[in-house]
Amino acid sequence: MTTVESPVMPSMTPPLGLEPQQPPKVGRLVDQFEKGLDAPICLTWELTYACNLSCVHCLSSSGKRDPRELSTEQCKAIIDELQRMQVFYVNIGGGEPTVRPDFWELVDYATSHQVGVKFSTNGLRITPEVADRLAASDYVDVQISLDGATAEVNDNVRGPGSFDMAVRALENLANAGFKDAKISVVMTRENVSQLDDFKALADRYGATLRITRLRPSGRGADVWDDLHPLPEQQRELYDWLVAHGDNVLTGDSFFHLAAFSESGGSGLPGLNLCGAGRVVCLIDPIGDVYACPFAIHENFLAGNVTSEGGFQEIWQHSDLFTELREPQNAGACTKCQHFDACRGGCMAAKFFTGLPLAGPDPECVQGFGEELLAGDRTKPTANKDHSRGVPLTLMTRPPTRDCDENPLAGFAPTTASGCSSTNCC
Ligand code: SF4
Ligand code: SF4
Repeated sequence: MTTVESPVMPSMTPPLGLEPQQPPKVGRLVDQFEKGLDAPICLTWELTYACNLSCVHCLSSSGKRDPRELSTEQCKAIIDELQRMQVFYVNIGGGEPTVRPDFWELVDYATSHQVGVKFSTNGLRITPEVADRLAASDYVDVQISLDGATAEVNDNVRGPGSFDMAVRALENLANAGFKDAKISVVMTRENVSQLDDFKALADRYGATLRITRLRPSGRGADVWDDLHPLPEQQRELYDWLVAHGDNVLTGDSFFHLAAFSESGGSGLPGLNLCGAGRVVCLIDPIGDVYACPFAIHENFLAGNVTSEGGFQEIWQHSDLFTELREPQNAGACTKCQHFDACRGGCMAAKFFTGLPLAGPDPECVQGFGEELLAGDRTKPTANKDHSRGVPLTLMTRPPTRDCDENPLAGFAPTTASGCSSTNCC
């Protein structure tokens, strides 16, 4: 759901330790990012782990609401703090964030406190009425998740009916005059060949395509071996991005592919740097703060927003984030001719595949990751799982629960989370 890209970047406050009255240091932006900023550029906030779907690759293993979920008042206190820190924009996700009964109240509270909102949704609640309301706001952006340009490919990973639900949401937004919704696609072995179709779909609804990398995080760890793009598809993806990247958002997803560049540069737009704890972080539904949305594991837990000093203390002074802002040991990658472009790839992808953080990405385009994957390694145990029993499996398991069979099962709100099924909340 979540990578570094922002329609506005007003939170590019000076690097930590640089007082506002001092003249700004001259230097590359990427060097400033490496040292961390006073406030995150890309703050993801997962409001709930409750979800009407059971996507096989869900990075947060969502399904059931965590009973310790932050209250409305606690969420508003976080928004107040973000306003004080001048975080002008937050990515809200989940789970399916719109199942929270106070979702729209929190969106309104954020936008009236100078904190713009982009929220990710599977489309569940984007009715014509909601679309009208969204179209009337200048401070809310909507991102519809879709992992196949056809129902067959999409529903294989996101569940039966989820393609139709997402497309209906896009139609409602377009009919309401909502400008520039995002279609967010996780690239898999099954959908790389559909890149042109995704772009056409986005164009049809006046939307912008956003593609992200499949990380082996959450339930994604269980399907990564089967779903991550093959080496030849990585090349196909790189070539497509070089040809179309100006009109497609990618955040920091594909900087490991920059090593394909023959010019020595990246050839790709976006941040070619792991921003974890530097410009990126995650607040989860109970207020825990992690270095990155794809690193929900105790090793990357920096603190909890309800502790003394709140989010600002964690962001600016936690031991973990301070450490992540130090120069990192890149191991053998420092000898690689592509290091400046690729920087050893994604920390989360290495961690959850059991590879050393000081070394190549599992999808290193030179093949070094594959060599390491074939050797001895121990994958970390997932210690955060909110799945409703067994998630969907790729084409093989028949649905066993209301929500799996019908993604609209939660549409008539009868429970606290707004879902009519008693299975997931
Ligand atoms: S670990 Fe770093 S590179 Fe990987 S998704 Fe997180 S911020 Fe991006
Ligand atoms: S060896 Fe390391 S720096 Fe070189 S391409 Fe592979 S992951 Fe990137």
